[in-house]
Amino acid sequence: MASRLQGFGSTVFAEMSALAARTQAINLGQGFPDIDGPVEIIDAAVQAMRAGRNQYAPGPGVPELRAAVADHQRRFYGLDVDPDSAVLVTTGATEAVAAALLALVDPGDEVIALEPYYDSYAACIAMVGGVRRPVTLRAPEFRLDPEALRAAVTRRTKVLLINTPHNPTGTVLDDGELQAVVDVACEHDLLVITDEVYEHLTFDGIRHRPLATYDGMRDRTLTISSAGKTFSFTGWKVGWAVGPAHLIRAVMTAKQFLTFTSGAPLQPAIAHALGLDDGYFVRLAAELQAKRDRLCAGLRDVGFAVFVPQGTYFVTTDIRPLGYADGVEFCLSLPKLCGVVAIPHQVFYDDLEAGKPLVRWAFCKRDDVLDEAVQRLGKLRS
Ligand code: PMP
Ligand code: GLN
Repeated sequence: MASRLQGFGSTVFAEMSALAARTQAINLGQGFPDIDGPVEIIDAAVQAMRAGRNQYAPGPGVPELRAAVADHQRRFYGLDVDPDSAVLVTTGATEAVAAALLALVDPGDEVIALEPYYDSYAACIAMVGGVRRPVTLRAPEFRLDPEALRAAVTRRTKVLLINTPHNPTGTVLDDGELQAVVDVACEHDLLVITDEVYEHLTFDGIRHRPLATYDGMRDRTLTISSAGKTFSFTGWKVGWAVGPAHLIRAVMTAKQFLTFTSGAPLQPAIAHALGLDDGYFVRLAAELQAKRDRLCAGLRDVGFAVFVPQGTYFVTTDIRPLGYADGVEFCLSLPKLCGVVAIPHQVFYDDLEAGKPLVRWAFCKRDDVLDEAVQRLGKLRS
């Protein structure tokens, strides 16, 4: 294996899902819902397959999906997006992030990212020869410290890689935090890649606001999202990047040599999905909020310190009140102890101490599964 990949091994999600399968534990590790999204979206995909949309799609994506993404940006955020030059369909947000970093980062360029970071960020920055500079979101609030962000900028900084709503902490950056990102980006003339895959999964009336809506950001921002979370089809891997034509052209240049094009028949189905009425999006968030509350209450009852998330699929806990100190050890022993799988935060940090006692739990699961998991975790009390 090439030196730039040394130390990356297999992803924590694959490892922990395999552990769950091996031990028949309840998997609150990897973030995927255990109920599929709307059947009409499946029907739309089947229809597309039967209608013969089974050969290579156009490189940038099928026109109706690009139009649907542009309509979505206008409908939810008032953004004016040209579907032909400003939208690129990708194989999940994962490919969009990878292609964006390949397109924009030269060896030695620095990329500032919020840590704990989604695991593909560190690997992709390494694969393009970039240098990652973390800005740490710290428990218990997990807020972005504007001073820490400013302090991370150097002459080599090229990109701010932002993620909001944030996996794994569940933080939704507020207006002040977003403005701090905008100010730093504009002052230092930086590009911004913003991963907004959980854009519709926010709670308690908190709304996600895309960075691209701020003054000064349009021409420097690549916004990335995906259908996986919004429509509960994480396995379809339909994602997209939206941004100014010059940046989209650069990302397209990388994407065409990674996958060339993305899964053809799924694209018209997601175009249909993006047009669902407001009620769909409201219900999705409300249902997930109820699951968040259910799992948070259960975990609190067991004795964890619980950090209630504002968005995403995940809740973070501190394990120290139960007498544990090391999240990695805890998560490796948990299937045997209780028959449950969770994800240790530590693998998402450069600052290992900051993540050591923290563990992430996914609540995008059926209520009976959450209840059973909490009941099993009850063993930790004694
Ligand atoms: N970004 C974040 C923050 C995520 O949590 C995930 C996980 N699904 C992804 C990107 C990857 O999205 P996709 O499955 O669409 O590639
Ligand atoms: N995004 C999901 C999570 O954070 C997992 C995706 C993956 O397995 N790479 O759990």
